[in-house]
Amino acid sequence: MERLLGAEYADFVASIDQSPLVGLRVNTLKIAPEDFNTMSPFALKQAGAYAPAGFLVADESRPGSHPYHAAGLYYLQEPSAMAVAQLVDPQPGEWVLDIAAAPGGKSTHLAALMQDTGLLVANDMDGKRASILAENMERWGARHALITNAHPEQLAAQFGPVFDRVLVDAPCSGEGMFRRLGSAKGAKGANVEWSQEQVLACARRQTAVLATAVQLVKPGGRLVYATCTFAPEENESSIARFLMTHPDFKLVEPPRFDGFDRGRPSWAADGLPQDGLEKCARLWPHRFPGEGHFIAVMQRAGTKKPDRSQRPVRFQPLKSSELKVWREFARATLRGDWPEERMLLKNGRLYLLPPDAIETGRLKLVRYGLLLGEIRPGYFKPAHALALALKPEEVVKAVNFPADAPEITAYLSGHPLPITDHRLPITDNWLPITADGFPLGWAKAGGGQLKNHYPRGLRMVKAEGRL
Ligand code: SAM
Repeated sequence: MERLLGAEYADFVASIDQSPLVGLRVNTLKIAPEDFNTMSPFALKQAGAYAPAGFLVADESRPGSHPYHAAGLYYLQEPSAMAVAQLVDPQPGEWVLDIAAAPGGKSTHLAALMQDTGLLVANDMDGKRASILAENMERWGARHALITNAHPEQLAAQFGPVFDRVLVDAPCSGEGMFRRLGSAKGAKGANVEWSQEQVLACARRQTAVLATAVQLVKPGGRLVYATCTFAPEENESSIARFLMTHPDFKLVEPPRFDGFDRGRPSWAADGLPQDGLEKCARLWPHRFPGEGHFIAVMQRAGTKKPDRSQRPVRFQPLKSSELKVWREFARATLRGDWPEERMLLKNGRLYLLPPDAIETGRLKLVRYGLLLGEIRPGYFKPAHALALALKPEEVVKAVNFPADAPEITAYLSGHPLPITDHRLPITDNWLPITADGFPLGWAKAGGGQLKNHYPRGLRMVKAEGRL
């Protein structure tokens, strides 16, 4: 970096020694950023015009432990990472693919920008990370997402060039994480120490992922490439190599917000074309309040409409006994429209698929649309995901407490709650528990108390300091 940055190097190194910034991005599917700012228990500072829902946490509080986090009101995200989905710029109704999506920083952001319309396919090839992605998307309340655990090549074989926008948030050497991790731990999700060989191995992997991702972009669609590393081998060189072999793609000039630096064409490896590389965006920790990112927005030539005709999901109608338990639950608990013609039952789990649901063939699915719950013999057990996706007008009755009430701590710790409201049904009714009106999960009234159905794996455990 010293050789590359020259006079700038001293500032760069000084920035690495500073404390990392804590960023928080408000879930606009649940609350407007200004409303959250007004009620926030943490001191917040607006991140900037580049991320209208983004804030920096300006005090020592731990927003990851607050009930609002459990309610999915925000995602903790490093501020420069907030620029990525913003530059993907997805439009409501579009089909968007996030090919390396776990744990979900960009996918939650994309879902919010799409206003949870169209179709967002969020994929990660690592199974464990794909489950964490699903958990984060669930807390977010996203309904129009398909979460898969597949290799990019399997996605390309199944879907073909149908997506309006494809994001490759590539596995990288993670140099922008050094400040946060306090060491050179290396690529996210690839617990490997940083080394020059590691940088080159990442560059080879990125070239391979891009070559596959391209097969999923529709004519006229956009491909966005991002890394959280500074290494030119994984940034300018990866893009130059891609453009050289894919002449139907051109770099697009993204909006330049405060602190957005340009790509450095001369940093591309010898022999690679440098044309247009200045259109990439570099976010440096010494020029921008964040840890650092590289982003390239590319557009595919062409106007031909993608062929999406062969891809609707084949729905199997539910049996009348299955419909009966769902309907009984829905009648007692939910308001609004829950279209049964879009429901899919798989291994006893009932999903509400988005209107644009596509056939997924043999892909490994982690979630499809909104998981409503499980159909058990004679009754329906609602899913945590359903509680987190509910809007106030979709609930017949909820049990609300202020976020700082002891009942909320007790609920998040897995304890039953006493029934203090005599208007509540006494037996067998599912009720969302809400904090300041925002659902946290389910409880079931019975035996004079509210039985706790907050998922065991999410419960606040004092010794570990979770939540
Ligand atoms: N987009 C995520 C977010 O914002 O939360 C971060 C993604 S992380 C930078 C890169 C991801 O790429 C990891 O989750 C990892 O499992 C995945 N990955 C690793 N090797 C890959 C490969 N060869 N092809 C595609 N994805 C890969």
